[in-house]
Amino acid sequence: MSLAIRGADVLTLADGAGAKPVTADILIDGDRIAAIGAGLDLSAAERVIDGTGKLVMPGLVNAHMHSPEALYKGRYDNMPLEVWMLYAYPILGAQTLSPRLVYLRTALCAIESLKTGTTCVTDDVYESPRQTPEQLDAVFQAYEDVGLRATISGHVVDRPFLDTIPFTRDFVDPALAAEADALGAADMDDWLAHCRHAFETHHGRSGRLNFMVAPSAPQRCTVELMQAAMELAETHDAPFHTHILETKLQAVTGQEFYGETLIAYMHRHGLLRERTTIAHSIWVTDADIELMGDAGCSIAHNVISNQKLGAGIAPVRRLLKAGVNVGLGSDGVSTSDTTRMFAVMHAAGLIHNVQTPDAAYWLSAEDVLRAATSGGAKSACLADVGALAPGMKADMLVIDLSTVAFTPRNDIANHLVYCETGSSIACTIVGGEVMAEGGRCLHVDEDYLLRELREEMPAFLAAHEETERLNRAFEAAFWEVHKKANARDVGVHRLGREPAWGAS
Ligand SMILES: [Zn+2]
Repeated sequence: MSLAIRGADVLTLADGAGAKPVTADILIDGDRIAAIGAGLDLSAAERVIDGTGKLVMPGLVNAHMHSPEALYKGRYDNMPLEVWMLYAYPILGAQTLSPRLVYLRTALCAIESLKTGTTCVTDDVYESPRQTPEQLDAVFQAYEDVGLRATISGHVVDRPFLDTIPFTRDFVDPALAAEADALGAADMDDWLAHCRHAFETHHGRSGRLNFMVAPSAPQRCTVELMQAAMELAETHDAPFHTHILETKLQAVTGQEFYGETLIAYMHRHGLLRERTTIAHSIWVTDADIELMGDAGCSIAHNVISNQKLGAGIAPVRRLLKAGVNVGLGSDGVSTSDTTRMFAVMHAAGLIHNVQTPDAAYWLSAEDVLRAATSGGAKSACLADVGALAPGMKADMLVIDLSTVAFTPRNDIANHLVYCETGSSIACTIVGGEVMAEGGRCLHVDEDYLLRELREEMPAFLAAHEETERLNRAFEAAFWEVHKKANARDVGVHRLGREPAWGAS
């Protein structure tokens, strides 16, 4: 199958290309871009899309998402991370989902992503009590069917939950704590065997899908597991995906558990590398930022989720200046309630302006677009995704420029970040194939899948309400832990405006 686009405004976002579109044709051969230029011979293409009045840009890359939270979309509000986790990642009584429900949940995220311009996603998937091969296969199958490019994990925590957060033993009732402790944690060898099997079975599947290792966080996993995971990532050239310094409590955790920052700890154990992607990276110190820049690692900036949980604002300009690669992520569907990357870009374009009055630390629309494309791709170890150029994967959006969002038209990058919602997308191409067109996914029956999921929800929610009731017993104690940690001085300030002109 070969596809072409004639006479579109093309925003390549290639290195050094700036953020102004040029009029050009695009020729796609198989799953890659064969040529971009004026007056190309398109006669060999089986389909030629008329690009008149259309913008073509790279598909958006969601650098950090958790599809399991999709079942809690719109359910929770006004809780900090550690309290919210009691309900979205419950300690007691968590349900084990059937592979079919896992498939439907993932398909829901994939459908919304594809229809709103995301062509590539990093999906960090936690299952309780631990992911089975059948559940993982269901996630891969959903992305394969809907037609996204995806990098998928089996997220793991191998420490007892109450030992992953400081001060819990000061506040949680001992009988309740004993109940939580009795559940234990994942076994390292079992998880590594699961990952090896996943790499053999799924890595490179369909030319679009990859597996990655995702140890939850340096305070939630043993260093032995993290180092073994890094070895696997190196062997398979896959991302090492983790969470660091999302909340102030986690900054305190570094001091309490290790007597150093969690970034310094990662560095000391050889875990800060180019293939390391750190979700959040909010409560980092200047020394942390320097270590991260020297390693050339990536972060996923989850700007909506970070606001919803009151986690803080990542120092993105400072990270970019140090040499850290920045991708944008929606984060889980419970903490942002949508996978829509145009919403994430809009928020990312705005939030840094209230961090400091020094405009040198604000992001431009081009900065945001690059983070939402090539930045995200790099964080997923995908060198041939995230820009339009010959040889790159043919992942792109064809956007109708006659909509309200682009009328009247001024600076196209500003329109994409501040005006567009995803509703102007005429068609979405992934790997050289049109996967969505006219607001519909072409390869799955969306209505059928959504109806089936709706039918599954009453039974799921009835059981989940009981799970919520069990875990509510921890809530007052977790608020106390949150308050105690937030009273501490951790040397950086990431809630609202930074203290001085350009300071950390
Ligand atoms: Zn996350």
